[in-house]
Amino acid sequence: MLRRAVAVELEISKDISKLLYSVESAYLSIVREVVTYAVVSNITSVTQLQRLFYSKYRQEYPNLNSQLVIQAIRQAAQIAKTFLRRKRKGLVHKPYPEVRSVSIRFTEIAWSYEQFIKSIAPVRVWISPISTGKRGRGSKRFEVWLRPHKRFWQYWWKVLTGEAELASILLIKRKGGKWYAIFIFELKPKKEEPKSIVTFDINENTVAVSKIDLPTTVDKVASWNRQYMVPELYTIKTDFGRLASRYEKVRNAIIEKLKPGFALPSGKYVNVTNTREYRKQVRKLREKDRKVGRVRHVANELTKTPAIIVTEELGENPQESMIEDIMKDELRHRIKQTPFKALEKAVEDKALERGSKIFRVSSYRNSRVCPIHFTRLEETNDWHTLYCSVGHYVNRDYASVLNMAWKTTPRSWTKGVWWNMKREMNWREYEDKHNPVIPQNIVQYIHAVLKTFKASEQCPAVLARGKPMNPAGRADEGWARSPPKKEEASKALKSTY
Ligand SMILES: [Zn+2]
Repeated sequence: MLRRAVAVELEISKDISKLLYSVESAYLSIVREVVTYAVVSNITSVTQLQRLFYSKYRQEYPNLNSQLVIQAIRQAAQIAKTFLRRKRKGLVHKPYPEVRSVSIRFTEIAWSYEQFIKSIAPVRVWISPISTGKRGRGSKRFEVWLRPHKRFWQYWWKVLTGEAELASILLIKRKGGKWYAIFIFELKPKKEEPKSIVTFDINENTVAVSKIDLPTTVDKVASWNRQYMVPELYTIKTDFGRLASRYEKVRNAIIEKLKPGFALPSGKYVNVTNTREYRKQVRKLREKDRKVGRVRHVANELTKTPAIIVTEELGENPQESMIEDIMKDELRHRIKQTPFKALEKAVEDKALERGSKIFRVSSYRNSRVCPIHFTRLEETNDWHTLYCSVGHYVNRDYASVLNMAWKTTPRSWTKGVWWNMKREMNWREYEDKHNPVIPQNIVQYIHAVLKTFKASEQCPAVLARGKPMNPAGRADEGWARSPPKKEEASKALKSTY
């Protein structure tokens, strides 16, 4: 099931705002205390935590709707669970998770869910954050008006047409001085015929893409028009690495500027990055927002039409494995800042929503082998350009995406690549393994396209975009361009061929 959260600003009176502030602070302290206890004692079972804490907090906050106490404990259990899992994997180093803010969860009994979903155009909700009766029975309803926007209506329309459902949990969250209701829509995944096969590979500053359009009649082998059977290759500029180094410079400047204010009598400095002032200034930079925007842009681009999307199998922590042998601090930092996982997740999510399927292939030798001759590629003094011993240059990223496409056709890949690598292979194992995700006729088509590509003599020219002259060192990916529009793309292809 696909989930989409939509935040809608609330229009509330000063009184209700005040009330929500106090509810939020009670809720937050429950979450914090329970999280700390759960992590220290390694107890993350919701039932156990409820048993331990429910009556304690009912007494401590007699006015709080008991539903909110239950939800706060649940939320704490989840945070603790995630934290402990990440800790076991060595991904966090702090002793406890820091819970800075929370969204208050209202279950269907604590807000007017039933009423809300019956409405054709809902513009207000009733929430019950506090209880009125003795021992917490009976609760007081507060009317809150919404400021719905286009995105909310788009999802609401889907609810009306049956393409989505509204989840019964409502989140109320404060950001700055404003309050928001967060509605969660559960979308039903679309089923569509794939129109193309898209292979993509994430790099520090670009995403390399190869696209093979599928004709409407993939089955009729005879009608495949050779002329159109050429994979389209392009790169989408993301500049994550560049963004990271720019922000790092700005952050360093902030540190230098703040330092004098935090000098100790001994002449040393307090670690400025722990100060509130530093955090405040860094927040203003909105680095994360810009990154998220770019991630969404790429995901949108890759899933425009329903497609079979092929990408590399990423490990648990792809950054770590990439920086293992990189000594330079700055480059390590930039790679760490490349949101591989986030990008993959965004693509997967959008793919599901739009009826595409995602398929992962191993990263084994993706950019080590010439996708045309299956020979081992040699390094040149330009990081992006590799040399094939048959006598042409190949762009590293394009080699990688094309080799991924080859891998969806197991037979040719194993035969072609491992044969030339003089590697002992158990052919059987690979030949008999039918690819369960991609239909056989499409696999045949991909194979045919890639073979045409292989046969074309001009292809090597397309593959080598970078000049093999750049001094090595920093991976310069500046030649990347934004994805071509339809006509431009065909023009560009023609001119390079
Ligand atoms: Zn070659």
